[in-house]
Amino acid sequence: MPKPPQNHLDPRQPLVVDTTKLPRQPGATRALTRVVPAPADLGLELIAVPPGSDLELDLTLTSVSEGVYVSGHVRGSLTGECGRCLDEISESFEVPIAELYAYADSTTEETTDEDEVGRMQGDLLDLEPAVRDAVVLTLPTNPVCRPDCPGLCPDCGARLADLPADHSHEVVDPRWAALRNLSNTELSEAASPQFKQDRIEE
Ligand SMILES: [Zn+2]
Ligand SMILES: [Zn+2]
Repeated sequence: MPKPPQNHLDPRQPLVVDTTKLPRQPGATRALTRVVPAPADLGLELIAVPPGSDLELDLTLTSVSEGVYVSGHVRGSLTGECGRCLDEISESFEVPIAELYAYADSTTEETTDEDEVGRMQGDLLDLEPAVRDAVVLTLPTNPVCRPDCPGLCPDCGARLADLPADHSHEVVDPRWAALRNLSNTELSEAASPQFKQDRIEE
């Protein structure tokens, strides 16, 4: 039965790899190192790879009987915002890539889902879904500028890391002001059972 036509990959796309030069006998390898501009929306809401920033691919293509196996690392930079103190986060990342791209009409192609195993389109393969999965899976959903970031003061919103350890606010609620004006002696007498008893005897 004829398969529906697949999306045609564009070999000029930075994350599309042309494997024409990789010998097809299983075990043959070819190194793939290139620096490409990062695609848009690579990341999460609070932390992501800046679009167009350098993504370094350091990969090995290996011919296997069912297709081409791509393994290695992707490196790049991340920018984001600390979820506690809102400071800018800027750091580098390196994630491993390990992805099989099945030849059209191979057993693997016929017995797996396209979401599980990549597909070769002729001699071309698209690294973008694998790069996207690898990068996004390593990102924290709640990024912090450092693991022990104390966050912001709940009263004034200043960064606690910039403030002295005893930073605090004397917040006087008007409802408590009257109570504060009582002396400590009066307060402890009011709370004392002995005091109540004296009153009853009077
Ligand atoms: Zn922080
Ligand atoms: Zn404060």
